[in-house]
Amino acid sequence: MQVGRYHRQEIFYPIGSEGQQKLKGARVCIIGIGALGASVANMLAQAGVGYLRLIDRDIVELTNLQRQVLFTEDDVKQQLPKAEAARMHISQMNSEIEIEAKIVDVNPYNIEKLITDVDVVVDGLDNLETRYLLNEACDKHGIRYVYGGVVGSGGMMMNVLPGETPCLECLLGPLPEEGSYDTCDTVGVISPITNIVASYEAAETMKLLLDSESVCRQAISMDAWDSYTEFFDVDKDPECPVCGKHQYTLLERRQKNYTASLCGHDAYQITPEDDGTFDYDGIVAALETEGEAKRNRFFTTFKNDEVDFKLFPDGRAIINGVKDGEAARQVFAKYIDR
Ligand SMILES: [Zn+2]
Repeated sequence: MQVGRYHRQEIFYPIGSEGQQKLKGARVCIIGIGALGASVANMLAQAGVGYLRLIDRDIVELTNLQRQVLFTEDDVKQQLPKAEAARMHISQMNSEIEIEAKIVDVNPYNIEKLITDVDVVVDGLDNLETRYLLNEACDKHGIRYVYGGVVGSGGMMMNVLPGETPCLECLLGPLPEEGSYDTCDTVGVISPITNIVASYEAAETMKLLLDSESVCRQAISMDAWDSYTEFFDVDKDPECPVCGKHQYTLLERRQKNYTASLCGHDAYQITPEDDGTFDYDGIVAALETEGEAKRNRFFTTFKNDEVDFKLFPDGRAIINGVKDGEAARQVFAKYIDR
């Protein structure tokens, strides 16, 4: 008798063939398809999770290849968006599951729509502000959230189960000021720790999907260079604004054209209010008369003597070579929001 592709997982008794069927019917959203997210996506696809939504706003770059397992030099040459490159590579490994790639910036306007129809959301993010926003959205909608983060050679992981366990803000305290904490841009990151944290995230996601009694209710802290893994209890703070009082400050902060600097670039991203009225074709047609506009399946690059940017169909833009957010906003106002 020929055995199926999940045979080794089905004879692993905590999963079994019944568990395998549950994984097939499960839906998972992974936000951020960098080092953590790509590894998690790869493992969940191998495991046969039936639906994966991969969300990332960035394009594959050469410096990603040191730790982001799914991407190739060819993806860099082709300037593929990470979500799409990941979808393409994963579907070559498992064509039996459904994979949806979303090339968008996760923000207060779209986050609820992106996460409310899945069973578990997995964190592959590279910045704290979006993580805190995700923590709020998951608490609001009662969605299970697997937090993971890495920097340098260290990482953390914790399951956030709304109404049951402490949340991200109970673990890390209020959102720190931007620039006041270490990031992968300032102190770097090595590949072994991203894979360790991703492995814990993938295992916890599988256990959550199977309603396993083995779901971890502690936080895990680990370091691949200093060689340790620690498990510790986190107290649920009754005064926590998110899981205690259900106040959603970041989710309700909807400014027009808010600006965010990009991870490790001399570039700024502008995300306009997502009201579905952005006229992408019209703007690209106008840009074609004002400089060199190159449109591909995913975005348009525009260059003239004055500016250099990428424009996405949802109206988001990445403005290159500007000194600050104000300069980026001026470019956005002149060429896009007109
Ligand atoms: Zn909390």
